[in-house]
Amino acid sequence: MGGRQVTSPEGMSWQGMHITVAGLGVSGISAARALAGLGASVVVVDGGDSEVLREKAAALESSLEGVRVRLGDGDTLPEGTDLVVTSPGWKPTSPLFAAAAEAGVDVVGDVEIAWRLRGPDAPPWLAVTGTNGKTTTTRMLASILRAAGLRTAAVGNIGTPIIDIVLGEEAYSDLDVLAVELSSYQLHWAPSLRAHSAAVLNLAPDHLDWHGSMEAYAADKGRIYEGNRVACVYNVADKATEDLVREADVEEGCRAIGFTLGTPGPSQLGVVEGILVDRAFVEDRQKNAQELAEVADVNPPAPHNIANALAAAALARAFGVPAKAVRDGLRAFRPDAHRIEHVADVDQVAYVDDSKATNTHAAEASLAAYESIVWIAGGLAKGATFDELVAKSAQRLRGAVLIGADRGLIREALARHAPEVPVVDLDRTDTGAMLAAVQEARALARAGDTVLLAPACASMDMFVNYNKRGDAFAEAVRELRSGDG
Ligand code: ADP
Repeated sequence: MGGRQVTSPEGMSWQGMHITVAGLGVSGISAARALAGLGASVVVVDGGDSEVLREKAAALESSLEGVRVRLGDGDTLPEGTDLVVTSPGWKPTSPLFAAAAEAGVDVVGDVEIAWRLRGPDAPPWLAVTGTNGKTTTTRMLASILRAAGLRTAAVGNIGTPIIDIVLGEEAYSDLDVLAVELSSYQLHWAPSLRAHSAAVLNLAPDHLDWHGSMEAYAADKGRIYEGNRVACVYNVADKATEDLVREADVEEGCRAIGFTLGTPGPSQLGVVEGILVDRAFVEDRQKNAQELAEVADVNPPAPHNIANALAAAALARAFGVPAKAVRDGLRAFRPDAHRIEHVADVDQVAYVDDSKATNTHAAEASLAAYESIVWIAGGLAKGATFDELVAKSAQRLRGAVLIGADRGLIREALARHAPEVPVVDLDRTDTGAMLAAVQEARALARAGDTVLLAPACASMDMFVNYNKRGDAFAEAVRELRSGDG
């Protein structure tokens, strides 16, 4: 990557800087407002030129001095640019960034700006990344920190843009610590970020079209460990995460801390007979372990979610949180919608919505959480293959119901690795197909089974997003119930 050298945050002045912001989306607008508010002169560029964009542009230009919007050209670098701020949808290969590199101009993302904007008393960051489980783990972490009486917020790739938090009404410097979720895109463009401690939950191929290769994707995730002060938390079951710790350049004394669903070794957190235990942040870790919580305290106690809880606990413990707060925080945690969400039981069959399982790695984790499953799957495969997922899950499948554009790929994998499993191919991509899918699933299920929506695919062929897909599933289950009535 060219142009990686960045100015140190200390003493940096934004006054009079000429900043180009890529993209008139949520994060671009938030960056433009923040930087103009600090006295920079901002040009937002966007390749589109629709009516909607023109309205947005006019609203932004009229609300703030120092912001101009250029529509219809997202490629050329405006004359005199000192710094380019990216938006998540923009690929690193975008011509605008090539032009910036050519001109020796830094390209940074919203997280880098937020990091540079933090004042001298700013709270430390506990950071989380990974292919799956980021939001859940970050929110669990915030819940644990809150249970310890700390003032905190879950930020980053969640909800409010991070720049707005840093400059927001609620005085940022009044917070004690931040729980920060970071995507691989944000990490790619945040070269000077230095977390107190950080975790990489897992690494599976995803977003490779953006990053170019698995190596590049892993390297971007690994940036989260750079300069960590206290702990680099990795997944013992996922060697790639441990390799990233080994490669990271950290502060003297920073420790590598593993989490595992098995019995923990020294400097690890793990599980012993249904108890989450810490053998990392205890006196004499060769001999001692500290009980943190019971597996039953984790909501819901599916294996991948216990791993998330251990990672959150490791970061909290690195920050000095007492064991009791880990338990209280996990008990208080409520998962977000569409993440292995129990919708209802109908005729002794559980209906579970994991619409957020938009890739095969996530679907594999949720299929591993149930014994006997009627699986509703399909959608947009984004270049994924399904052989490994189906082979690993085959013995748990009572049946499968397939929907969506790329369902044929899953059907073929089922034929190869689970030929005895009954499959209903709905051959539909309309929104109403979800009701039919749930009805087919009901016909296949027996008492004690789980009907699991874990599509392993993106939703956009049939729905606006995964939320709407999950809502359609829940709605269909409600219709089943009222049909019973
Ligand atoms: P992210 O923010 O990384 O997308 P979420 O916490 O929103 O992650 O969870 C997304 C989906 O990923 C869940 O619905 C579940 O299917 C799956 N998942 C969650 N945690 C893990 C994990 N530790 N390993 C594998 N899959 C997971």
